[in-house]
Amino acid sequence: MARQGNIKISSENMMPIIKKWLYSEKDIFLREIVANASDAITKLKKLISIGEAKEEGAYKIVVTVDEKAGTLTVEDNGIGMTEEEVETYITQIAFSGAADFLEKYEKAGGDGIIGHFGLGFYSAYMVSDDIEIFTKSYKEGAKGVRWESDGESVYTIEECEKETCGTKVVMHISEEEKEFLKEARIRELLEKYCSFMPYEIYLDPKGEEDKPVNTPFPLYLKQPKDCTEEEYKTFYRETFHDYEEPLFQIHLNMEYPFRLKGILYFPKVRKKVELERGKVKLYCDQVYIADNIKEVIPEFLMLLNGVIDCPDIPLNVSRSFLQNDREVQKIAKYITKKVADQLCDLFRGDRERYEACWKDLATFVKFGCIKDDEFYKKVKEIILYKNLAGEYRPLESFFGEEVSPEDAKAGKEPETVDTYIDPHFISYIEYKMPTRVRFLRIDADIAGALKEEGEEDKAVLELFQDALKDKKVTVKTQKLKNSAYPAVINVSEFMRRMSEMNSFYGMEGMEQEVTLVVNTGCEAVCALKDANEEDRRAAVEYIYLLALMNYRPLTPDELSSFTSASIRFMQGSLKKN
Ligand code: ADP
Repeated sequence: MARQGNIKISSENMMPIIKKWLYSEKDIFLREIVANASDAITKLKKLISIGEAKEEGAYKIVVTVDEKAGTLTVEDNGIGMTEEEVETYITQIAFSGAADFLEKYEKAGGDGIIGHFGLGFYSAYMVSDDIEIFTKSYKEGAKGVRWESDGESVYTIEECEKETCGTKVVMHISEEEKEFLKEARIRELLEKYCSFMPYEIYLDPKGEEDKPVNTPFPLYLKQPKDCTEEEYKTFYRETFHDYEEPLFQIHLNMEYPFRLKGILYFPKVRKKVELERGKVKLYCDQVYIADNIKEVIPEFLMLLNGVIDCPDIPLNVSRSFLQNDREVQKIAKYITKKVADQLCDLFRGDRERYEACWKDLATFVKFGCIKDDEFYKKVKEIILYKNLAGEYRPLESFFGEEVSPEDAKAGKEPETVDTYIDPHFISYIEYKMPTRVRFLRIDADIAGALKEEGEEDKAVLELFQDALKDKKVTVKTQKLKNSAYPAVINVSEFMRRMSEMNSFYGMEGMEQEVTLVVNTGCEAVCALKDANEEDRRAAVEYIYLLALMNYRPLTPDELSSFTSASIRFMQGSLKKN
């Protein structure tokens, strides 16, 4: 006899709210239903292990899509439920769980509950008009039970025929959610959320040779000492679909004071100029949660690729709570420390390999230093720069003795600075060690280095100032050692860093304030004084553009002025001869 009942929690108003809030992530329903199936098997296995239940054979989860019937079904051969259990766990707990979830979500100001754990079974109503459950408990003499509800207010429960123990959840997919009746879409979701779940999952199995869609025992669960390099590479390829091999990996394996397992891979840097985002996938007991959760995984580590499984993270709380959670902070610290230790081990144990990898590591390590002081302290001795002979040397070996910040001359040999992040990193190092370190470009203040003693030439100065008054340039005159160049552009270290920062933040095109140092030792400059007004103006502009050209590429306008000036002078000089 079928019984009907009213769902106690007022759920009529729940669905529209849940649907709206979780709209972008409604595909998590499949993870929730499959995770329940997986838990049911784990529970049964536990009972078997303590002699409370009989061994049943191969445990598995079967997912089937029936587009014609409009159903998506998830079936397990786990612990199953008796009629009372269905009443308790589904009608009461699952529904009140959803109500609880809503309340938490509201409290969190909708800032996202990590992984949306807690919505559980009820989340399937985001995509279904109606759900049926067929279940039979593992208990001796248990009868099959069928439960059905549209998720709003009434449900039906009755006895039914069911041969084996376990649970089958049949979701009648609603008209608007037809995508979940496509096998390819379901496969994609199973691969995303369920690829490391601990029991074999089959999608629309057709015969003996069917392969599970998941890897029930992923490599990261193994002891590091039992893993081969080949296995690490295969796991990387399969998990990140990246056919470029990683540089190396760090296998995390921790039991106490919290459980954490995972593998972090250092990828090769492909584009030199860009910080490429990696993907660190977070799992909780082999169930996928999300990528790049910054509260758990330090931001700079997200340049890596990896999987991290941490069953102890409180996932049914809001992200803002996680940020202030001490346990979570410990987890982040542990991961950072492990990464630093591993880099130091490589540096000390295999310097050649470390240097070979440095090009790809440099951005990551420098970014890590800027973001995390603890990390900096651990790795500061293994940051490398090339000297002029092209050999890698630890950064510290370039530093001078303690000197006052004004005295820049104490610097030792020059180093080559070439990564995208260096402008930031250099400022960071200077900030950390103000009495020991000042970076200067070799050509910074070039005119100063080339200077020959002598007075400023007032006449030349005024002449240039007047002719260049529309340009963003300060003029100075000096007699330079090399008399061949009429002028050089000089930009202070400060201005150059400003402009690097601007281009880092995509604010290119901001015109720089430059200084034009006019060489009064150059014959062409001296000759200007005798030239007529028109020639003089043209020559000044020409000299300016020549100097500019040696400093940066000319803009299209500058280039056309330069071309016409060149032609003018060529014609003039041909006429004279
Ligand atoms: P949670 O899994 O977070 O406890 P759910 O709403 O997903 O919440 O499920 C409520 C309860 O229903 C579960 O705790 C479990 O006891 C029961 N249940 C759900 N699915 C199954 C299943 N496939 N087999 C056995 N029991 C299940």
